[in-house]
Amino acid sequence: MTDLHRLSVRELTEGLAAAKFSSRELTEHYLKRIEKIDAQVQSYVTVTAEQALAEANAADALRKAGGATVLTGVPIAHKDIFCTHGIKTTAGSKMLDNFISPYDATVVAKGKVAGLVTLGKVNMDEFAMGSTSESSYFGATANPWALDHVPGGSSGGSAAAVAADLAPFATGTDTGGSIRQPASFCGLTGLKPTYGRVSRFGMIAYASSLDQGGPMARSAEDCAYLMNVMAGHDAKDSTSIEKDADNYVANLNSTSVKGLRIGIPRQYFNAAGLDADVKARVEESLKKLEDMGAVLVEIDLNMTESYVPTYYLIAPAEASSNLSRFDGVRYGYRAENPVDLMDLYKRSRSKGFGKEVQQRILIGTYALSAGYYDAYYVKAQKVRRLIQQDFLKAFESVDVIAAPSAPTTAYRIGANLSQVEMYLGDIYTIAVNLAGLPAINAPVGFDKDSLPVGLQLIGNYWSESQLLSVVHQYQQATDWHTKRAAIAEENA
Ligand code: GLN
Repeated sequence: MTDLHRLSVRELTEGLAAAKFSSRELTEHYLKRIEKIDAQVQSYVTVTAEQALAEANAADALRKAGGATVLTGVPIAHKDIFCTHGIKTTAGSKMLDNFISPYDATVVAKGKVAGLVTLGKVNMDEFAMGSTSESSYFGATANPWALDHVPGGSSGGSAAAVAADLAPFATGTDTGGSIRQPASFCGLTGLKPTYGRVSRFGMIAYASSLDQGGPMARSAEDCAYLMNVMAGHDAKDSTSIEKDADNYVANLNSTSVKGLRIGIPRQYFNAAGLDADVKARVEESLKKLEDMGAVLVEIDLNMTESYVPTYYLIAPAEASSNLSRFDGVRYGYRAENPVDLMDLYKRSRSKGFGKEVQQRILIGTYALSAGYYDAYYVKAQKVRRLIQQDFLKAFESVDVIAAPSAPTTAYRIGANLSQVEMYLGDIYTIAVNLAGLPAINAPVGFDKDSLPVGLQLIGNYWSESQLLSVVHQYQQATDWHTKRAAIAEENA
């Protein structure tokens, strides 16, 4: 079959179960595509062809023996932030260019138990800091919809790989929008779960109180399959919730759009930086949901102006602490011929980390230092609480909150936005992380340059099933999620 990459995850599970094709054929098909097409996209940092074929053979054998479960033999790409036993894990950084993890992240281990076949590790902004994937030590990744544009970030490799049909689905992480924004830029569905729903064990830490892994795929249905693998309590992560995960696939029709109260924050839709096409497409999608029976309710989220300053204080503060372990001594990049220990630290860290990461370490260290701690970090934590309360108040009168995922569509590669412009691009995503809430991006059309636009739906705590279900209903009634970039149409 030449078009296996066009099948949805459900269709892949059905095809494998009915022996229409083997995992080996499916895996070879994807590896061939990667070999032919990824030179243009640069989504993979590492392709694990040999291991993938071995895993595919094992999956086929297991299926023959009657031991297969639903996803046995389905391929996946992992963001290069998840530790993979015996395979390089770089976090997009020179610092970890030579790092081979001695263990699997829980998410990766769960994928193995589910029988997923790892095609490789995909590109990302260095240590997940960025919105374009350009800060990766390994270079930029292209947006499959327009190769001179970025796929977004930080999970840009995950988004580009799926959008170019170089993987059926991929893992991502979202500290401040890094699943939702690249999903938006690449026309995909991506879910950022409630903080604590997906284990952070073995996921290289950026800002620990905000980091959360989640699925990226074409549709809510495909995401639900991956959520069933990723979600669940993990004793190895102290912030993991001791609460059973849902069966997200079984729940795809659990929420009716009829009567669903969707909050429309005035502050979000009147924001100065919101692109007119993005606004129009998002409003059209909301109109569609209204036609399907949803009730649109205007709400206020009064803390909107404090999102960017609060996030860009807390995230760098936590990053400065998390990244202190990369000192050139224990592992990671090590400067040559140090004259003394201080010289080793200094040169390893200034050569091993890129510019954006270094800037954030400096800002974070400053904010945490004696004399400034109360004025900055403690204050930001107080504002964070107010942002959370603002959402909780809104959820007293609405079921979900709608927003764009990003104020614009994808930027050009090398556009060199100022740092302030880049940070303001996170306005619609970061508050969700500060509050620890779940949110989903769904593709809802294109701008005048044929670049994808995304709708974001934010839910109350633990409402992943509801969000997936609402988007699934929307995707049953529309076909934006089935649109493919020209490069995805190419056959290998
Ligand atoms: N743009 C956000 C940042 O640079 C993305 C963070 C993320 O979700 N990893 O911090």
